[in-house]
Amino acid sequence: MYNVINLPYPYYALEPIIDEKTVNIHYNKHHKKYMENLNKLTNSTIPLNQIPKRIDEFPINKRGEILYNAGGVLNHNLYFQSLNPNPSLPKGKLLTKINETFGNFENFKTNFITKAKLLKGSGYTFLVSDNKGNLQIINMPNQETPLSYNLTPLFNIDLWEHAYYLKYQNNKDEYLQNIWSKTSFDNASKIYELLI
Ligand code: MN
Repeated sequence: MYNVINLPYPYYALEPIIDEKTVNIHYNKHHKKYMENLNKLTNSTIPLNQIPKRIDEFPINKRGEILYNAGGVLNHNLYFQSLNPNPSLPKGKLLTKINETFGNFENFKTNFITKAKLLKGSGYTFLVSDNKGNLQIINMPNQETPLSYNLTPLFNIDLWEHAYYLKYQNNKDEYLQNIWSKTSFDNASKIYELLI
């Protein structure tokens, strides 16, 4: 059985940047639906984060659906951990590498927003690391995961309309600007610390 993470804060905790109703629907309906679909498709014991790399161990006629729904669970697990009512900046090795790669955190943020604006349709913008610790900001369509490309996702922002539409309607740019007062890099810093 595959499971979603427990939401690390109450539904209302990201107000007024992301409203309670959006978080509730996003977590309980969208996120959990990917988990339910995945569990209907397979009773595999392959760990969730290994599914993308080991997708050829699943029956060929189910691979597309399994990869899509596993991606949906993984990408949302990361997204909900990339947000927090108490925002935090990168620490330790990740902070050092962000400064080295982008100059400083503000420049990283500007680059991230610029990249996010280039995403067409539904998907996510990610901060990822390769296996040498090099950082990159990339867009992935729909529920694709960087794990399929040998990249470790550290932090992401969900850019599907369901992530912001109730409050921001078509103003994706406003969502992208506002969200930084609720972003957390604690999870990203931890993943990166263990990776390098
Ligand atoms: Mn979503």
